[in-house]
Amino acid sequence: MSLYTNYSGVTRMKIYISVDMEGATGVVRAEQTRSTDQEYSFGKAMQTHDLLAAIEGAFDGGADEVLINDSHARMINISPEDMPGSEGRLRIISGTPKQLGMMEGVKGCDGAFFLCYHAMAGTPAAVLDHTISGKAVYRAVLNGRESGETGLNAAVCGYFGVPVALITGDEATAREARGLLGDSLLTCEVKSGISHAAASCLPPETTFGMIRERASEAVRRISQGLAPVPDTGNGDFCLDLTFHYTSQADCAEVPGTIRLDGRTVRIEGKGMDTMRRWAGSLISLGGSVGF
Ligand SMILES: [Zn+2]
Repeated sequence: MSLYTNYSGVTRMKIYISVDMEGATGVVRAEQTRSTDQEYSFGKAMQTHDLLAAIEGAFDGGADEVLINDSHARMINISPEDMPGSEGRLRIISGTPKQLGMMEGVKGCDGAFFLCYHAMAGTPAAVLDHTISGKAVYRAVLNGRESGETGLNAAVCGYFGVPVALITGDEATAREARGLLGDSLLTCEVKSGISHAAASCLPPETTFGMIRERASEAVRRISQGLAPVPDTGNGDFCLDLTFHYTSQADCAEVPGTIRLDGRTVRIEGKGMDTMRRWAGSLISLGGSVGF
């Protein structure tokens, strides 16, 4: 915990929200998450809807500051003008590239929320399952454990000592996160996947209250030391990235990496922040080509 005390003796708490889009209320298909498609306006609206609920909940629960990191695609989905007036208690990290990607800015925060997240590549009945890049990554294995964005990002939180207190998304996302972080993690399932691109969804009127209430509870759990801090051991990492095509592994096989097989590149090192930077960079390289 890095709760600190300001000059008036009041304990202050800073909540970090990494907000993706695929796990937002009602979002089921890729068109709703791509800015070049007409349906994007729905995905953006629902992402903002879920984020506003989480912000309200965080302040309800006693947060003093909220730092939002736009974590989807070009990372300019959240319009600052849509965010509530907050007397300077709210900031938004917008845009990309940024070294830690979906985790930029998390260091020094008191607790993290993963909002509108999705399950890892290869998960059945999971809305828009993928791991960072659907066109590049077949599988990511971190220290022997198959990991999606939740796992890779939670490792960064754990390395910095930041608890992960809440994750929202579909049922598969919540299951994956509880499997990683245990049952003390609060989850909010806004939909139940039927396939990769279909789900049974709760309406926004319902999910707003659910997310708000759980975000509030999450802040209380952080202040009580009850939210899980991901275990990253001594921070040493071994990350194996398996791409869809050998051509993608060819591009990602840069000095310092080990080519394990036709499709797989390994990188080893120290520090989960370094791991996350490698993951982002190697996946970008691999994703720069198709066949
Ligand atoms: Zn996304």
